[in-house]
Amino acid sequence: MTNIRGNNTTRETTKSIKRISGDLVEAGRRLHRQGLVIGNSGNISARIPGTNSILIKPSRVSLESLKPEELLVIDLQGNKVKGESAVSRETPLHTAIYRTREDVQAVFHTHPPTATAFGIAKIEILPLQIEMFIQLPNGVPIIPFETPGSKALAEKIQNKIANYDALILENHGIVTMGSTIEAACNLNLMVEEAAKIQFLAMSLDGKTEMNLSTLKKKFKKQNLSE
Ligand SMILES: [Zn+2]
Repeated sequence: MTNIRGNNTTRETTKSIKRISGDLVEAGRRLHRQGLVIGNSGNISARIPGTNSILIKPSRVSLESLKPEELLVIDLQGNKVKGESAVSRETPLHTAIYRTREDVQAVFHTHPPTATAFGIAKIEILPLQIEMFIQLPNGVPIIPFETPGSKALAEKIQNKIANYDALILENHGIVTMGSTIEAACNLNLMVEEAAKIQFLAMSLDGKTEMNLSTLKKKFKKQNLSE
């Protein structure tokens, strides 16, 4: 095993690992409390600034009880750099995103019931509510099913994330990413909220036209900077 930066792990890096670990674990608890994951499911990670490594939840640990010191450090090729527990099979999904998008600092993968159901029904989630439109202007597309942890799934995700910060994985769950831990976590909660709103609107009025180009026209005239 090597240090995160060869033999040159700085005091600054150690300090930021401690801070990021605490923030990441706290964000994971939020998602568990909100019912976006149950049991040991879901996976969260954050980039360690100035390194080619990330902190990530290990396999077979619940987001409810995860402790900062249990997080693994892995490099962007998926090799374990630090930690005792087994690496999650969903790790390739995370490393693929960090390799592709240098701006991404955190990735959250969960299995929220409503958003996951949209993926199963093959209905894309739309930002029907105006504040959601600001965060998700292109909606949330569906990545066709691939085996969790597979190279094929990682490749499909890599090919889609140039224009999207949130994806639905068909028959699986969702993935969100952001420039901070808070942004990626909030987006995860927002995708599930958007799915619930869309489901309710569809149940109340099956005639409402729901497509992205109609929404873009409607919201274009608004001052969205509030
Ligand atoms: Zn999963």
